[in-house]
Amino acid sequence: MRSYLKLTLFVVTLTLALILIPQVFAYHLLGGRWPDQKVSYLKNYVYSPSPVEAEYIYAMQSWNDASTPAYFVRVMYWQGLYVNSVAVYEPEVAWLGMTSIVPSPYEYPYEYADVKLNLYYVSDFSSEKTQALAAHEYGHVLGLAHELSSPRVLMYPYLNVFYGIYGVYTPQQDDINGVNDLYS
Ligand SMILES: [Zn+2]
Repeated sequence: MRSYLKLTLFVVTLTLALILIPQVFAYHLLGGRWPDQKVSYLKNYVYSPSPVEAEYIYAMQSWNDASTPAYFVRVMYWQGLYVNSVAVYEPEVAWLGMTSIVPSPYEYPYEYADVKLNLYYVSDFSSEKTQALAAHEYGHVLGLAHELSSPRVLMYPYLNVFYGIYGVYTPQQDDINGVNDLYS
C-alpha cells in the first residue's frame, strides 16, 4: 500500500511537473514586420508557370492554415506592398532559398519581400521538401528569424535536419507563436 502510494505520488508529481513547465518562447524575431498589426494580408505574386509554383502555393496555404493573424493572398499582378516568389538557377552559390526584405528584415514596416528558391539544388527535391523550404522562407517574410534551440521547427536553419530528419514541412507551434507575437 505504501509503495503503491509512493508510486502514485511520483507519477502525479511528474505529470504536474510536465504540465507546469512553462511554454518556452523559443522563436526569434528579425525585428521588423508588415504594417497591419491585426491582420497582414500579404499579396504574393508567384511567377507562373514556374517549376516551384505549386510548392509556393502549398507553403502559403500551410501558413494560412496555421490560423495566425497573417494571411497570404495570391495576386496575379504586382501591386502595393507585396511578396514576389520566384525560382532562380544559381550554381555558384551555397543557398537553397533566400529571402530579401525591403527596407530591411530588421526595420518596421516591411514594404517588399523577394523570395527565391535555387533550382540548382531544388530541382532534385521532392515536392514536399521544396514546400518545406518555401514555408521556411515565408517564415522569414513574416518576420521570423532562425530558431536554433529546436531542430523540429520550420525556422531551424538546416532543411536537411528539420525536414530531412524530422519531416517538418509546415509551421509548428513555436513558429506559429512567433507570428502571433508579431501580428496579434
Ligand atoms: Zn532561413
